Amino acid sequence: MSTVQQALARLGVLEHPESIVVGGQSYPGSGQTHKVRSPIDGSPLASLQLAAAADLETVVDAAHTAYQIWRSVPAPHRGEFVRQVGDRLRFHKSDLATLVTWEAGKITQEALGEVQEMIDICDFAVGQSRQLYGRTIASERPQHRLAEQYHPLGPIGVISAFNFPVAVWAWNAMLAWVCGDPVIWKPSEKTPLCALGCQAVVQQVLKDNPDVPAGLSSVLVGQADVGQAIAASPRLPLVSATGSTAMGRAVGQAVAARLGRSLLELGGNNAIIVTPSADSELALRAIVFSAVGTCGQRCTSLRRLIVHDRVADSLIQRIKAVYSDLPIGNPCHDGMLLGPLIDEPAFAAMQAALAEAREQGGTVFGGERLLQGVPENGFYVKPAVVEIDPDAAVVQRETFAPILYVMRYDDLDDAIAMHNNVPQGLASAIFTNDVREAETFCSAAGSDCGIVNVNIGTSGAEIGGAFGGEKDTGGGRESGSDAWKVYMRRATNTINYSSELPLAQGIQFDL
Ligand code: NAD
Repeated sequence: MSTVQQALARLGVLEHPESIVVGGQSYPGSGQTHKVRSPIDGSPLASLQLAAAADLETVVDAAHTAYQIWRSVPAPHRGEFVRQVGDRLRFHKSDLATLVTWEAGKITQEALGEVQEMIDICDFAVGQSRQLYGRTIASERPQHRLAEQYHPLGPIGVISAFNFPVAVWAWNAMLAWVCGDPVIWKPSEKTPLCALGCQAVVQQVLKDNPDVPAGLSSVLVGQADVGQAIAASPRLPLVSATGSTAMGRAVGQAVAARLGRSLLELGGNNAIIVTPSADSELALRAIVFSAVGTCGQRCTSLRRLIVHDRVADSLIQRIKAVYSDLPIGNPCHDGMLLGPLIDEPAFAAMQAALAEAREQGGTVFGGERLLQGVPENGFYVKPAVVEIDPDAAVVQRETFAPILYVMRYDDLDDAIAMHNNVPQGLASAIFTNDVREAETFCSAAGSDCGIVNVNIGTSGAEIGGAFGGEKDTGGGRESGSDAWKVYMRRATNTINYSSELPLAQGIQFDL
């Protein structure tokens, strides 16, 4: 039995997994057969009959049935269910990390970190379940109470990307559940076993809680057509979609056309500014982790380095030296820091971007495919450093691979303008020991991103803050802070406990 099969067996995933699971009930989809291969070595992991758009309705029916029950369960009791999910996730942490490594190619440390994110959001959501606060507002009328309540919204559609195959679902599902909403999850077709593994964990908790309706949690493994059906379904009041900007544009427009709510977490083009006062050791470590972590396939991966003229030469030299020595190879092996790209199209996109960068005047270091000392049939690459003009067209776009574009600056205002001059607005950072520079970067005239860091890299956010970005990144916020509010509907109540009927704004209407 392979490591993956052992992990699946421990989780309780069927030997021949099926692509639709509602609570504990599995069945095959009516779509085409789909083979899942590992990015590590191209080995086959599973073969599934995918869900098709037509399969969505029955799953939505089950979610609606669950909603009728779940919305009236007291929120702290909903939190207790999530607490138990967190316990089971702790128990299966290494099994789920194994699936993340084999399906998404993450090194073991990053895979364990992703599962830990799920555990952390469970803890956060349990606390949140006792804090779904509405405000009491001073009424202008005597003996009136003006207050707001947050109510469950309804079944939520979650569409997720391959590169965070478990955490993104958990960010959404745990909050949605404590808020009273069932969740229908369409994971990336590249990482279905991760999704089925998570659903199996939920199944275990459902078994222990027979009063919890099965339709609270469903998975449909399908392709873009299932995502489109979710976006178009008027029975899903919120669609949370994580993926490329092209996908988000399609989903956002379909949801808007039916006046639904969408939460979009899309592509980034993240940058770090390094100033002359920066602690260069700190900056170097942060730059390398942010640029090569998950083989440059995080939405928050560092793509642009904007470095002051005075420190540029030495910093670029040191980055190249570290890159030349990075352990690249099988992500299951201890000590590896860089695993494979997800697949051949990702490698082709990386090579195309590097060719374009050369045409646009860039100088390319690294970026080639590695064939020695790595598993056969995986796409392992040396991370690339590209010194290039900030106005080059290739810099404007997110290429999902470890390519770091390096640009120089002389004046901080120019650096910030350069920083903001891309269509995306997800994660950003400045390395400086000058409080004026740090605060300027964090100010209204500074970074235009959703995540703005000082002396910390662009990737590796904690779950406690709201996560997301502006512009082409989609504007959504999920995970911590008050992100829970998007999963609820707000009702404003005015209660008159007087024997008069005073009208607001002092209007007289005498009958
Ligand atoms: P992708 O857009 O190809 O696919 C994402 C998901 O959307 C998949 O489940 C896919 O099946 C589905 N999908 C694709 N086209 C669709 C359509 N037209 N309608 C409905 N659903 C559709 O993205 P990917 O390659 O899996 O992931 C990489 C991208 O995701 C990068 O751009 C990355 O920056 C982004 N991402 C963003 C965040 C964030 O939080 N901002 C997090 C992770 C990944």
